[in-house]
Parts: sequence; C-alpha cells; structure tokens
Amino acid sequence: MIEETDTPYYHVVGVGAGPANLSLAALFQSGLSGSGEQLALFDKQPGPSWHNQLLHPGVRMQTSWLKDLVSMVDPTHPLSFANYLVTTGRMYALMNAQFDFMPRKEYVRYLAWAAAQLPNINYGVAVDKISFGEGGFTVYSDGVAKARSEHLVIGIGSAPVVPPALAGLPDDRAFIADELTQRLPSINADLDAPMAVVGGGQTGLEATLTLLNAGFTNIKWFGRRLWFETIDDSPTANDVYRPAHLRALQRMSPVTRRQVIERLNPTGDALTPGAMRGLYQANYDAMLELDRFPIGLYPARDVVSTGIDDDGNVVLRCQTPEKREEYTAKHIVIATGRANVDVPFDDDLRERVETTEDGELAIDSDYSVRWKGMNGNKIFALNRARLNHGLTDANLTLLPVRAAAVLNSMFGREMYHIQDDLCPVNWG
Ligand SMILES: Cc1cc2nc3c(=O)[nH]c(=O)nc-3n(C[C@H](O)[C@H](O)[C@H](O)COP(=O)(O)OP(=O)(O)OC[C@H]3O[C@@H](n4cnc5c(N)ncnc54)[C@H](O)[C@@H]3O)c2cc1C
Repeated sequence: MIEETDTPYYHVVGVGAGPANLSLAALFQSGLSGSGEQLALFDKQPGPSWHNQLLHPGVRMQTSWLKDLVSMVDPTHPLSFANYLVTTGRMYALMNAQFDFMPRKEYVRYLAWAAAQLPNINYGVAVDKISFGEGGFTVYSDGVAKARSEHLVIGIGSAPVVPPALAGLPDDRAFIADELTQRLPSINADLDAPMAVVGGGQTGLEATLTLLNAGFTNIKWFGRRLWFETIDDSPTANDVYRPAHLRALQRMSPVTRRQVIERLNPTGDALTPGAMRGLYQANYDAMLELDRFPIGLYPARDVVSTGIDDDGNVVLRCQTPEKREEYTAKHIVIATGRANVDVPFDDDLRERVETTEDGELAIDSDYSVRWKGMNGNKIFALNRARLNHGLTDANLTLLPVRAAAVLNSMFGREMYHIQDDLCPVNWG
C-alpha cells in the first residue's frame, strides 16, 4: 500500500542524470508513453553536464556517435544523435568537418538537448539518503523527502581518486586534473617552471596537452604502465563491446569472467590513438620552436611517495622496474583514475543490500542489485559491475542496451528486443 504523503510518487526514481540514467529515461519515455507510469531523475549538478571540468578545447569522444542514448536499441527514437544533428541544424557542418571522433563538447550539448525533452529531470538535488519503507523507496536531500518510488536506479558514476602517495600535498602545488582549467590563471606566471602530470590515462594526456597549449615549456608526463598504451580499436577488440560478448561473459564462471575482463582491459582502458598522435605531433611542433621537447614522457614510473623541498616545490619519488628516481616540479596535476561514488543508502537499506567480497554491490545479469526485499521492489545499478558485466558497463558503448535490459527486467516483459545475432566471433 502506498502511504499518503505530499512527496511525489513515481514508478521509478533514478539517482544521477548522467548518460546512463538519461538513456534509461529516454527508453522509458518511448516504451511507456500513455501508460501513466512516470520516471524521475535527480542530479546534484545545477544543470545538464558530463565531466564538464574536463572539457578542454579540442577533446574528443572515445566512442562512435552512433553509440548515443538510444540508437543501438531504437534508431527511430526522437532522441537519437542523428535527430539532434538535424533538428539543431548542424548535420551538414558536422558531417563535413570529418571528425574521426566527435568533440566531447558536442556530446554534452546533445545530452542537454535530450534532457530538455524528458520530463521530471531534477537538477541541483544532491541525494544524501535513500531509504526503504512501506510503499517503496524514498530519496532525500538535506533532510527533505524529494520523491518516492516502486523501483530505484543508481546511476551516480565515479569521482577522481588521489592515491595515498600523492595525498596531503599543499593545495596550491598539487591538484586533480578536474581543477586544471580553473587553476591555470593562478599558475601560469612562470611558463618555464617545471610541471608534472601524474597518470598515464586519457585524462593525464589531456591535462598534459592543456598545459602545452597554455604555453608551458617544461612538462613531465608520468605513467605507470610500460608505455603509453593506446586503445586497441581493431574489429575484434570492438567485438568485445556488443551484446553477443556480454552473453558469452554471463556463461562463464565468476572467477573466469573476472580474469577474462581484466585481460580485455587494453580494448578500452587506454589512450585514444588520435589523441596520442595529436600530443606527439604538438610536442614535435613545439620542439621546432624551442629546439627541445617541452613535454617529456616518463612511462614505467610508479610514484611511490612525494614531499616538498626547501623551495616549496613538489618532490616525486618514482619506482621504475629497476631503480628509484626523483623529480621536482613546481606544480603537479593528478590524473590517477576514478572510483565508484558511494551509494547513500541509509543504515537499514545498507544492511539489506548484498555486497561482493570487494565491498561492491552484488549485481545480477539484469543489472539488479541483490537485496532483502528485492521481490517486489527492485534496485538497479549502472556502471558499477565492470568485473561482472564487462567493460561495457563502465563506458558509453552499450548504454541503450543496458537501459533496455533494466526496463525488460523492471516490467517483466520484453519491452525492447536486444538483437545481436550476426557475430563472426565465436566466444565459446
Ligand atoms: C573525461 C571522461 C571522458 C570519457 N569519455 C568516454 C567516451 O568517450 N566513451 C565512453 O564510452 N566512455 C567514456 N568515459 C567513461 C564513461 O562513459 C563515463 O564515466 C560516463 O559518464 C558514465 O556515465 P554515468 O551516467 O554512469 O555516470 P556520470 O556521467 O558520472 O553521471 C553520474 C551523475 O550522477 C550525479 N550524482 C552523483 N552522486 C549524486 C547524488 N548523491 N545525488 C544526485 N546526483 C548525483 C553526478 O552529478 C553525475 O551527473 C569517459 C569518462 C571520463 C571521466
């Protein structure tokens, strides 16, 4: 029975309005139009955004524009990227620009365009408590119940992590890559000062290039892997990012599945080849001006500890496969990866939710979380089960496929058919 309160009641509430939950909202809207069922999303950002602090000029997507919020499942959906291009008048200009990969700023605009056409997307609401009681879930912000629902979908994404070796440095000398744009005006008085970027992933690459473009001439880029590894974008590597492969993963034992997913990492968790080429060429161009490379690449450097020298510079102590090295920099940019954001379940719900040995939510193949109470009311979690569902769960490649699987499970019928039969790879 649903309690009588003033708090609005929805069939499903999604926490977070990033691409994952927007895809769900888009398919919910078209699949259930006229049914009276409603979905609401709550996001702490003041408006539509997608890693907006990392939108440096010129940054590109890592995935094809066809991998939008809806097209892999429903290409006739009004919120397809193609419809965005046509209805906003940019189809011809964008096509003729011949991008290999879409500018990330364009994707952010597309998300904002789509969000504006979806009902019940609430911005500026940080959900800090989720409870469960008679009639379903209640989400709260600042002590106020914002909504109640039968089902819940967690889509709260990830946040940057700073490893212990880099923690505790003075804030004016060391900061995360997300803060680089806002810090530039206060750090660019001396463009020849030694700068360091720690983290060999895409965010580290983009921070390094941003420093170069801002005029810095002495940048060291440190990565832990043996070389600055680019994504394997070959056809069979891309076959990992399709429903046929997801199905194969679900046939494996949990232990094998985990090992397979870890070994598939180079297909996704690496640098975009075009971006790496761009950095290499920009460094070469700058070398022609300066007679030396402004960017030094330092692979196989594990920063194991840090300190501050007498001049206030940051000291980076690195372990290579053979020896210890030490470097100093006036400022360091930390780009050492991201981790899942904690779900703000209240104590009662937290106790009822099953977790894995890593402390992560236990998530089934339909993206539902195992919990005591799950029979009537379901909790789904998106982007939190990479080691169980594969690399597609941690990126945008199969957003609509994942949203379709969630809706099919939520309504107990095939609302969307997930089709992927023409696959030349036999995954076993
Ligand atoms: C810079 C960058 C570029 C990337 N580029 C690509 C790419 O090109 N292709 C690809 O496949 N993958 C890419 N990824 C990886 C992945 O696609 C993204 O992380 C993607 O944003 C995941 O979508 P999401 O909706 O799960 O999470 P997010 O986009 O992180 O969205 C989560 C949302 O939840 C909100 N939120 C969090 N906590 C709360 C709360 N308590 N209450 C209310 N709201 C909350 C946040 O404000 C945020 O808007 C990229 C990642 C990064 C960091």
